[in-house]
Amino acid sequence: MSIRVDVLVIGAGLVGAATAWHCARAGATVLVADAAHANAGASGQNAGSLHFQIERRFLENGERLAEDASRITALSRLAIDDWDGLEMALDADLHVRREGGLMVAELPEELALLETKVVREQEAGLRTRLIDGDEARRIAPYLSPDIIAAAFLPDEGHADPRAVTPAFLRAARMLGAEVAYDAPVQAIRKRQRFEVELSGETVIADRIMIAAGAWSPRIAALANLHLPLFPVGLTMNATERVAPIVPHLVQHVGRRLSLKQTHAGNILIGGGWPSRLRLGADGAFDPGLRPDPLPASRDGNFRAAIATVPAIADMNLLRSWTGVTAISADQLPIVGEMQRMPGLFVAAGGSAFTLGPTFARLAARQMLEWDRAEADEELAIIAPARFEHLNGFMG
Ligand SMILES: Cc1cc2nc3c(=O)[nH]c(=O)nc-3n(C[C@H](O)[C@H](O)[C@H](O)COP(=O)(O)OP(=O)(O)OC[C@H]3O[C@@H](n4cnc5c(N)ncnc54)[C@H](O)[C@@H]3O)c2cc1C
Repeated sequence: MSIRVDVLVIGAGLVGAATAWHCARAGATVLVADAAHANAGASGQNAGSLHFQIERRFLENGERLAEDASRITALSRLAIDDWDGLEMALDADLHVRREGGLMVAELPEELALLETKVVREQEAGLRTRLIDGDEARRIAPYLSPDIIAAAFLPDEGHADPRAVTPAFLRAARMLGAEVAYDAPVQAIRKRQRFEVELSGETVIADRIMIAAGAWSPRIAALANLHLPLFPVGLTMNATERVAPIVPHLVQHVGRRLSLKQTHAGNILIGGGWPSRLRLGADGAFDPGLRPDPLPASRDGNFRAAIATVPAIADMNLLRSWTGVTAISADQLPIVGEMQRMPGLFVAAGGSAFTLGPTFARLAARQMLEWDRAEADEELAIIAPARFEHLNGFMG
């Protein structure tokens, strides 16, 4: 049997679901195919932070990366606006809470990092401001007396990852999009149109969006293309439910730490602590296997949380889990059309809980040739074209 659509979206995580919604809104016929189910990947495992400040992972890797990161701050500005109206547009409670985010510093060298970072962000139009430890504790009395400064961005916060993807899919379906679960994409052929084999079915599509997170390179390989994205195993921790104490998103510029309190009362603690990726039968990292937890990550993460918010010392750790996200060869996301194969698009990598709605909105415009020049310009820094040299002999 074969199905004919304007757009086939591969992956029903946040990015795929949001892409389907934007395309369906614009009147396209859309099929979303997922090998498993909605939120089966990172979109169902993540911390739900809406962080628009330049991330610590860029700052800890030298000037060049920090410079690149400040160039994508323009996308963070767009993402702030995209999250603003999302609950209303999707008619859903996503538990979006945006009371501001603090990236804190304890040491003079950390303060220096914050100073440079805040200048970069302000130049890019973010409302971040540098505050001293006393002002930080006035805003966030739960912070440790050891905090000497913070970068405060009033737009930051968090949302519920378990609510966001289903809400996008629901809204897309109401506009006519179809969703197929347990439907792994197994082959991609490009003739006049794309012919894509799902289990037992052929989909004929004008455009394809690869939104398969850490699996995206495997999908690109089906089209004989390289996509330099790598799986990364991370660790998350959650405390028991406690009375409201932390209304903000809290990050640390010198330690791996991000924390927030969910609407249910648990404190979610993460911030980039590793877990150990598992290998599949072919000997390669398999993003479909939950990574093994590393006790040192759990303990280090908890220690960083207590050093920043001492009240956490009295809370019980309820649960730890691991998840897999995707990181590109230059740490920036990859969003846009593959030059070697017009009509084949990708949106993967980076912090795509925060930025995913924006990637999806702009990529949908590219796919449907709607205000395309503007979308091309906004996505230029993260376009796949920067890795085109890898595909010189491919496609
Ligand atoms: C522990 C953790 C914490 C994180 N915290 C944050 C955070 O606080 N803030 C933030 O902004 N980002 C965070 N991230 C990153 C964020 O979760 C991801 O960037 C985002 O969820 C990626 O969404 P996605 O839709 O691109 O991919 P995914 O959610 O990974 O979805 C990919 C989908 O593709 C499907 N798929 C795979 N193979 C096939 C196939 N052959 N055919 C069809 N479908 C297929 C999978 O089943 C899956 O459902 C975190 C990630 C992790 C792991």
